[in-house]
Amino acid sequence: MKKIIVLFSFVCSLVSADVAVAVSIIPQKSFVEAIGGDRVKVSVMVQPGDSPHTYEPKPSQMVAITKADAYFTIGVEFEKSWMERIKAQNSSMKLFDLSNGIIKIPIVEHHHEGESEHHHEDEENLDPHIWVSPANVRIIAKNIYEALVKLDAQNSNYYKQRYEHFLQSIDAADKEIREILAKTPKGAKFMVFHPSWGYFARDYNLEQLAIEAEGKNPKPQQIAHLIDEAKEEQVHAVFTSPEFSDIAAKQIAKEVGIPVLKISPLASNWSENLITLAQAIARSSE
Ligand code: ZN
Repeated sequence: MKKIIVLFSFVCSLVSADVAVAVSIIPQKSFVEAIGGDRVKVSVMVQPGDSPHTYEPKPSQMVAITKADAYFTIGVEFEKSWMERIKAQNSSMKLFDLSNGIIKIPIVEHHHEGESEHHHEDEENLDPHIWVSPANVRIIAKNIYEALVKLDAQNSNYYKQRYEHFLQSIDAADKEIREILAKTPKGAKFMVFHPSWGYFARDYNLEQLAIEAEGKNPKPQQIAHLIDEAKEEQVHAVFTSPEFSDIAAKQIAKEVGIPVLKISPLASNWSENLITLAQAIARSSE
């Protein structure tokens, strides 16, 4: 009887997922599953509605880490304060940095008091939201593919096929976004509460204007300035995300008479999400 049980559990481990991977945010799960398919089991740290800037893993998640073969980091803020503790949970867990090879751009900070706008070049102010750009997702996909082959060489053909297929779907999304924005003027502006769409803006010749002031809700005087700015700069749409307060965004949109759209950079359907954003910007600049 014992023999049968041993054999049974061995067969089960072959049939079920071969690699257990922990990731920080939901879009990473989508990317890993696109390439890893049913050979990979992915667990995510930052849950819907939580911010990867301030996230604190739950005790149950720290326990789950003990079962992971690998952790794929992406460079979001909470990793900086938690990675040492996460690593301490599981010394055999391998680490892979999915942001490897991506050139980060500075976050443009708006100074609402004056008109000056400056770029910080230090690491602290480089934009961590790298996954909102199909060009970056191509690099992330390559990093995931290479990591999975290292972790599970037996299934490398399976991963290669799915990786190539995923690259095609990234290119298709990029092409669709370019078509949607074909008639949108270069430098068209959109306003967001939190500046998460910098790489998207860079790739498609758009400009994002952030509402938050140093990570906080703007003061009434700053909101008044933003309303003037939105009118002057001909901002046609305001985007908010469920991770942040939308009170200021709604107030600005109401004053300027433009639509507010709630869209999360942390959604699982990453390409549809970018397409929705492009459509809203294209519509508003007609
Ligand atoms: Zn953010």
